[in-house]
Amino acid sequence: MDIRKGIGVSPGVAIAQAFVLDAEELHIPQRRVRPEAIAEELQRLADALARSQEELISLRDRTAQRLGTELAAIFDFHLALLNDNTLQERFRDSINKEFVTAESAVAGVLRSYAKEFLQMPQEWADRVKDVYDIEKRLLRQLIGQSRENLTKLRGDVVLLARDLTPSQTANLNREHIRGLATDAGGRTSHTAIVAKALGIPAVVGLNDVTTSANAGDIVIIDGNRGVVIIDPDQPTLEQHRQYERRLVEFEQSLDLVRDLPAVTLDGHEVTLLGNIEFPEEALTVLGKGGTGIGLYRTEFLYLGQETEPTEEEHYKAYCQVLEVMGDRPVTIRTLDLGADKYTQKRSAIPERNPFLGCRSIRFCFQNMGLFKTQLRAILRASMNGNISVMFPLITSIMELRQAKMILRDVMEDLEDEGIHVRSDVPIGMMVEVPSAALQCNDFAEEVDFFSIGTNDLIQYTLAVDRANERVAPLFTGANPAVLGLIKQVIRAGQRHDVDVSLCGEMGGEIEYTLLLLGMGLRTFSVAPPSIPELKKLIRSVTIEHARQVARRVSTFVTDTEILSYLRDQVRQVMPEAF
Ligand code: PEP
Ligand code: MG
Repeated sequence: MDIRKGIGVSPGVAIAQAFVLDAEELHIPQRRVRPEAIAEELQRLADALARSQEELISLRDRTAQRLGTELAAIFDFHLALLNDNTLQERFRDSINKEFVTAESAVAGVLRSYAKEFLQMPQEWADRVKDVYDIEKRLLRQLIGQSRENLTKLRGDVVLLARDLTPSQTANLNREHIRGLATDAGGRTSHTAIVAKALGIPAVVGLNDVTTSANAGDIVIIDGNRGVVIIDPDQPTLEQHRQYERRLVEFEQSLDLVRDLPAVTLDGHEVTLLGNIEFPEEALTVLGKGGTGIGLYRTEFLYLGQETEPTEEEHYKAYCQVLEVMGDRPVTIRTLDLGADKYTQKRSAIPERNPFLGCRSIRFCFQNMGLFKTQLRAILRASMNGNISVMFPLITSIMELRQAKMILRDVMEDLEDEGIHVRSDVPIGMMVEVPSAALQCNDFAEEVDFFSIGTNDLIQYTLAVDRANERVAPLFTGANPAVLGLIKQVIRAGQRHDVDVSLCGEMGGEIEYTLLLLGMGLRTFSVAPPSIPELKKLIRSVTIEHARQVARRVSTFVTDTEILSYLRDQVRQVMPEAF
């Protein structure tokens, strides 16, 4: 039995066999397979060799045509290496005798092969780069295969991965994946957000879970405590099965408040909206007692498929959400691509620092066709429901004005084409960069609403990468500087009569609810599974109590004092939440 501690990002307990996904290209863990799986590994190796050979032949022929036979000869060398019987025999031997996966065999054999090259005369030693190249090609074939397998799962599994790419996350097989554990990631990485939205128990930031477990091992994922247990003994297994039953009972007890209004004991109304990534989640929001969508992360439409979505695809997705929501509010955020929500492979120019790079609204401004396609679809859909448009990652007034101007242009184009759209669609912005929070009084003159994105606001205020497990303990909304910015935005909203909601993960974390209410926040947009718990707490407190909490918090100067005080307060009102 092996117990690992990580960051619990999506609650619940999952117990199932492990499916280990090798998602990292060059670090291939030495992973053993069961003897009965050897034949399958040998077949995977043979397929990878054959496909790599086809690739090389076509590359050689194309290079010869374009650049001449001399340059094309490099691929002849690769082909000769790949077809070398002795080398192929070494791969097979490694699988047969060491019981490892095909990718482990390829990585292991080619790395020692590379070392042998380095011992040779210079002319050969220089060719070590070609050995690495062959290794990469073969590994890509093999890893590509295991990625494909992910969509073809038959039985229930818990998925262990280094991390998931956004497109893998967007295509997660919800039917068979009971739980998720990753080596990388933080509390608000895209993997964490999607797992929570889908209600899949998840733990991230485990560092080495993929090298600690073998495919087929029984694994427990405890998303509440952030613990993963590999190969548990019988008493531990039984204990977790009981714990799982208790959690289900707690969930069921929350069903009782689902259809009741979110009103405090002293009669203050609070609005609870849902965050969604996929149109189908709109139903879940209603099922959990949400009264609208406060954040539709439309970039997942993009991430879930290979090609750019067309205007019709955007339009269909938005109408699907509106059909479910009726006249309830739906806030559509324009594409927030880039940084962690864009595979670097798909970015034409890889960036050294993508979180500070061409992401989000900046990316849209540089890809005007893509941006306008989405705006057209949103405006057309505006005729079918209660839509608002929200721009992400706004950092300056000029940027906001530019986004609004483009929206107006698109509106005029549609009118010229005789397509009717609503001219009074509310326009809002995410406040998720410190510059926007600090200048919120000016921004308030130019928008209809603010939505505070604490995931990015924390990241940019504290200089902590939200997806990096190595700095995850530094990522906290309880930092007084972060709280100061949030307070400032809520105040600006009150002063200028601009609606303010909060849609970062912090809004769904029960320890912050009292504090945020006390600061004056009245609209929360959270992952749908968090809605019932939040509602139960709101119905159990008074605004007077919340204000006292906020006043007390403003006297503390460290995040640890704040968090322990807040936990204590919530525990007194709703002990079962912990
Ligand atoms: C945020 O930054 O808080 C937010 C809600 O947006 P995302 O997590 O999609 O970046
Ligand atoms: Mg954000």
